[in-house]
Amino acid sequence: MNTKHSIRVGWLLDGSGGPVREKVLLHIENGSITGLDNYGGGDNSDSSSITDLSHCTILPPLVDSHVHLFMSGTTDPNMRESQLTAGYDQIKPVISRHLNYMLSYGVLAVRDGGDRGGFALRYRDELDKGFPVAIKSAGRAWRQKDRYGSLIGRHTEENESLAASFEKDLEDVDWVKLVNSGLNSLNTYAKETHHQFDRDEISRLVLAAGKKGKKVMVHANGHLPVRLALEAGCHSIEHGFFMGRENLQLMAEKGVVWVPTAYTMKAYMENIDAKDGHVNHQVINKTLEHQLDQMALARELGVILALGTDAGSLGVLHGESVVEEMKLFKKAGFTLPEIVQCATSNGAQLLGLDTIGLLQVGRPANFLVARGMPAQLPRKLSYLEDIFLDGKSSGIYRKNPVKTVV
Ligand SMILES: [Zn+2]
Repeated sequence: MNTKHSIRVGWLLDGSGGPVREKVLLHIENGSITGLDNYGGGDNSDSSSITDLSHCTILPPLVDSHVHLFMSGTTDPNMRESQLTAGYDQIKPVISRHLNYMLSYGVLAVRDGGDRGGFALRYRDELDKGFPVAIKSAGRAWRQKDRYGSLIGRHTEENESLAASFEKDLEDVDWVKLVNSGLNSLNTYAKETHHQFDRDEISRLVLAAGKKGKKVMVHANGHLPVRLALEAGCHSIEHGFFMGRENLQLMAEKGVVWVPTAYTMKAYMENIDAKDGHVNHQVINKTLEHQLDQMALARELGVILALGTDAGSLGVLHGESVVEEMKLFKKAGFTLPEIVQCATSNGAQLLGLDTIGLLQVGRPANFLVARGMPAQLPRKLSYLEDIFLDGKSSGIYRKNPVKTVV
């Protein structure tokens, strides 16, 4: 069987943040990329078959670095309530549906930020090995008793340190998730909540996690909650609203990854009635604008950003919200190759995945096919032409069969 073939690609975004390449002849052997030449003008034909994607843009598979699989982004209060109290048997089909939505947008890996029952973790272990979306799960997040986080985790025991609680835990999580602040206020601008754990407690958790080969992701908004997590050696900051320039500088120095989840704010604005007395739309809008300014600053300072949506939050739908978050990266001043880098290779690296990420020689030929020029992105992710796995049209998601010419 001939496992060698070539694909003519109109435009290629390789996930490195570098410029878009045009008219690329992609050579594939045994599922891996063996060459990236240019076509057009010269004679590039050889005896192997050539697949024609000259009318398409290809890019690496997407990674959503912050989701909650157990909860849908529904705005129906009854539905939300029932999902928040349901057991695993009821949640299992919900998770399955969310993963299929994500697959239809080309998301082939997710990092779950926790749920109260450890449902996503259990689902990860039961996942059909042939299913193409990888789940990395934090199981149940750690929080302080009587503080925010009951929906996504559990609290430490009284008279027991955070590290001791963690060490006793036998769940095989991919990431350790810590909640170190509250949520953003939707009616008082930039209101900072108190940190949940101090620097030493977080440090000891990071050390204990490291001994088990695990990294720590921290939900934190506001200067001090973020500062303490960074000084304690955490590996990623989730949300990070109002963290400020000094924290961003520190993140750039330490190589800590930031997952800004900006679309959550836009979704609040779109889905909560302006007449609701508990919220102030101007405050929400200003909070979003501030987050976009912080993202612009992070870009300038060289902070590594990974795209995450917090899907499951009010109005934040699995799959679709990746496109929405990409649009906000654009609004914050990121170029298309940079946005794709944050949504692909930066995420893959954060999640420790080597089967997806950069489209370079020696790497697996796993990629998304979007019809048209790169200028159509990210919108065209909603209408993907195909997903190639190991160099072949997967047939998982294909609206129009691609043409193969000899
Ligand atoms: Zn979250």
